[in-house]
Parts: sequence; structure tokens; C-alpha cells
Amino acid sequence: LGEPDLRQLDAVEVGAAWPVPGPQDNKYSQGVTGIAAGSATYPGAAVLATGSAVLATSGMVRYAGPAADAVRARWPEVIATGSVTDAGRVQAWVVGPGIGTGNDGRSVLRHVLSAGVPVCADADATTLMSRYPDVLDARDPGTPLVLTPHAGEFERLTGAAPGEDRVGAVKAAARRFDAVVLLKGNTTLIAAPDGRVLANVARGSWLATAGSGDVLSGLVGSLLAAGLDPWLAAGAAAYVHSLAADLAARGVPVPAGAVEAAIPDAIRRVRKFC
Ligand code: AMP
Ligand code: MG
Repeated sequence: LGEPDLRQLDAVEVGAAWPVPGPQDNKYSQGVTGIAAGSATYPGAAVLATGSAVLATSGMVRYAGPAADAVRARWPEVIATGSVTDAGRVQAWVVGPGIGTGNDGRSVLRHVLSAGVPVCADADATTLMSRYPDVLDARDPGTPLVLTPHAGEFERLTGAAPGEDRVGAVKAAARRFDAVVLLKGNTTLIAAPDGRVLANVARGSWLATAGSGDVLSGLVGSLLAAGLDPWLAAGAAAYVHSLAADLAARGVPVPAGAVEAAIPDAIRRVRKFC
């Protein structure tokens, strides 16, 4: 990739990192993922982000937000409530897909950032951070934060487009926010605040479709809930996300829901090496 400090994860590393239950595990030790996503306008973002957390690993997924009925109808395994304040205990939060960029979204984001557990902030959550920078003051210091912007969200968040030097830009953002920053694209870059950078090169371009980012956020959240290091969680999620897209597509475009349905196949592929 022409950059000495850029590394790609391989299937063996991802397979070894992926949490699978053992004899001593139960639903809580496997990780409880909370999903704060969706709105009356965008219930689909909630359903997609929740579903990928269900399929990825999570011992339990809790959904909190206005799309609780839609989530329950699609995923009976999920405990769904109308508000983050009633969500119960979670071990990592996904916040942002489809929540909107107004005051309601702002208070949801504030609540989640102050919960003292790892957070994956995606989509509208990154836009809310640029609109209301004070929400970041709510963050519990030392709790892992993973930001997953696409190029446009990255520009809003940092004030500058990634430009030619995407590696430099994503590293600077990770330092500035003291967060893992995953910059989406055909090559997705994942930077840690200490300067480590991973690259995930997509196998095809099948993820260039509505809803695919929501699927990624659920994967990241479930790995955070399982206790993975946030940089590895983001890298492994990106790997399985693009592999699932490749497996689902087999040469023709497919919707994000089909990519999501292929998550178990992608995990099976990487686990084969263990
Ligand atoms: P979002 O824009 O939030 O829906 O996220 C889009 C997802 O699809 C991210 O994981 C991107 O890395 C991926 N993606 C978008 N466009 C492409 C592309 N042309 N090739 C490969 N991956 C893509
Ligand atoms: Mg998105």
C-alpha cells in the first residue's frame, strides 16, 4: 500500500480475534450491545444496525429508540425500548444511524457518551459532534470511542475533506478526538490515537449501496461489547463487512440486508483458520 506504517488484517488474525462462545460463556459474558439508532423517518437504519449486531456475536442486543416496533418485528431476539434511559445495562453502544441531527439526537448521544462503556459513533452521531462539539464533554474519559464517518461526515467532523493524504488525515483525526477513526471508502482506513493505521481494501464495490454503513456499525458495536480492543474491533468489523458483501454479491449488486445476512458465512470463512 506504499505506506510503511499501514497494515492489513488477514483472515487468520480476524478469525482468531472473533469472539465465539465457549463452555463457560453465557449471554452476558458474550457481550450486550446497545443500539441507539433510527427515527420515524429512518426506521430501516435501526433494523439494519441491530440485525448485524445480532448476527455478529452478541450474547444480547438491546435496541433503544423510536423504531422499537420495527426492530421487534424483524428481530424477536432483541430487547427493544423506546428510550436510551430505559435501555438497561449494555456493554457497548452503537449510536447514530438514522437518529437525526437535532436536539433529540443530541441528548441521546450525550446519554450514550456518558454511560462509561465503549461507543461506536456513526452517521448522524458524527454530524451531531460537529454541530454541538460540547457533547464530547459528556464522554467518560478513558472509555473507548470509535468514529465511523464516510468522507462527507469526516469533512463535517474535522472541518476538512480527507484529501489526497487520507492516511495523514485519519491519523490526525484519531489524535484530535482521542478515538479510533474508521474512514470509509473502497479502501477503509482505521487509525488509533497512538498512530497505528490499518487498511481494509474492499474486494468489490458492492457496499456502495444504502444501508451498508448501518450494517458496519452493528458489527463494530458487537465486537466492542465482547471486549475487543477498539482498533482491532473496527479493523475486524471492516474485514468481515467487506467479505460478507463479496460472498453475498457473487458478481451482482445486492441490497445491504443481503450483505447482513451473509455475516455468518463471512465469520465461518475467517474462523476456518482457527
Ligand atoms: P455508509 O456511507 O455509511 O452507508 O457506508 C458505506 C459502507 O460501504 C462503508 O463501509 C464503505 O467503506 C463501503 N463502501 C462505499 N462505497 C464503496 C466502494 N465503492 N467500494 C467498496 N466499499 C464501499
Ligand atoms: Mg452511514
